[in-house]
Amino acid sequence: MPVAGSEIVKMLPGRKPCRDCGFPTCFAFAMKLASAGTTVDKCPYLSDETKEKLLDLLAPPIKLVTIGAGDNAVQIGNEEVIYRHEKTFVHSPGIALLISDKDDDAKIEEKIKKIKDLQFPWVGVGLEADLLALRFESGSKDKFLALVKKVYDSTDLGMILISEDMDALFAARDICADRHPLVYPITKENIDEAIPKIKENLTPVGLHGHSVEELVSLTTKMKDAGIEELVLDPGSDNLLDAMRDQTFIRKAALKQGFKPLGYPTIGFPCFIAGDGLKEMLVGSAFINKWASVIVFSDFDRHSLLPILVQRLNIYTDPRFPMAVEEKYYEVGEPDEYSPVLITSNWALTYFLVSSAVEATKIPAYVCVKDAEGLGVLTAWAAGKFSGDSVGTFIKKSGIGDRVKHRKLVIPGKVARIKGELEDALNLEWEITIGPRETTGIGAFLPGFAKQLKG
Ligand code: SF4
Repeated sequence: MPVAGSEIVKMLPGRKPCRDCGFPTCFAFAMKLASAGTTVDKCPYLSDETKEKLLDLLAPPIKLVTIGAGDNAVQIGNEEVIYRHEKTFVHSPGIALLISDKDDDAKIEEKIKKIKDLQFPWVGVGLEADLLALRFESGSKDKFLALVKKVYDSTDLGMILISEDMDALFAARDICADRHPLVYPITKENIDEAIPKIKENLTPVGLHGHSVEELVSLTTKMKDAGIEELVLDPGSDNLLDAMRDQTFIRKAALKQGFKPLGYPTIGFPCFIAGDGLKEMLVGSAFINKWASVIVFSDFDRHSLLPILVQRLNIYTDPRFPMAVEEKYYEVGEPDEYSPVLITSNWALTYFLVSSAVEATKIPAYVCVKDAEGLGVLTAWAAGKFSGDSVGTFIKKSGIGDRVKHRKLVIPGKVARIKGELEDALNLEWEITIGPRETTGIGAFLPGFAKQLKG
């Protein structure tokens, strides 16, 4: 639950107004703190005790946890709302592929290759799985450590280390500690033995309880030991229980502000489901119901892509349409006689247009006008794709320096801006009305490009 500025101000020194924090009054500083617009350390007059209290009050209701390092670090948690439509979800769940040390070498190689190869370009973003979950099942510590070493040496991915044997678990952690792996499962049976080992080389910790209640005592013990990067597994062994437990944890953290459950969660479709399709469906439910890491026993291109697209859709901020930057883009290697087309900056529109142009194999310039992420017709109706504003953009875009001709193709759906656009461009550009739909670009562009060259 967010803390109010009026609560914070009661804890501030109230030095009339010294402004050393950069704000005119303590109250202004408090309001900014409450909205996460500044940090506690900006006021130099807070006692250590007050600072600690404030940091605790201002901490996000679900702790931020990072698994992995560098470009492949997966951040989870830090969520603020139960339902996406209330604001937005912040950190999309890490998708993990399970490898057992019982798998033979060929299978291990295949899975490592798979997670590297399965990458999907999708409306301007790259979709891919993020993590490898390595499980000790063989009974041979050496075999497990060899698997961890192999994955550590051959990928840059973050790892989840799964072992009930504590010696094997922490020996594996030491191999890849700089990769910030998640060590799992820490339970009520092994927590006392585990805490000193965890503290030797701190990385995120996966807690496994037989119930949500059991998790509360585990997180409390961990926090008392100064270990806070925690990920919760309530031990649900079927889909219904899993959804119930995920909901309970999320609501306790966000609605009640119950700190012992204020951590991201992990879901294991690989252990809950019995077959491939069921496993993907369970994983899909975990995406909807807040799991922050989801572990699959296997996937292929056909089963992974829908999961990744679902994750993208759920974790895209609903307040802002997906948009691309306003500028002209080159498709292929256009020259000074290549066609110039214009469209709006809704990501889907841009990628449909540029893909259609690319499919013709005719190099071209696609100018993208900022329309606040709206499609062309909606943007025109909202006054964001008028002849005037398109003309202003074309003049400042620099596209006139890239081509010798002065012919601009506008989408057929906004043919009505032609006259206004010609005026805005001082009649220096000839406006051609292009196809109404991107599917028409294939038939339109070759003939148009021929005219320019001729
Ligand atoms: S620096 Fe501290 S005491 Fe001074 S105005 Fe800011 S909040 Fe108040």
